[in-house]
Amino acid sequence: MAKGVRIVITLECTECRSNTDKRSPGVSRYTTQKNRRNTSSRLELKKFCPHCNKHTIHKETK
Ligand SMILES: [Zn+2]
Repeated sequence: MAKGVRIVITLECTECRSNTDKRSPGVSRYTTQKNRRNTSSRLELKKFCPHCNKHTIHKETK
């Protein structure tokens, strides 16, 4: 039994966080799961950000 391997993480838009003078407030966040055994480093995924209105890199937050 693989307990504690799949953990819930939050992905946050990197452009929302770096671009402070964008029009719409807020940061795009996605909740997902990862396999800690396969992905020990921080996860990065390209997701659509409704605030940036385009696909951006979303990084795992901690
Ligand atoms: Zn964004």
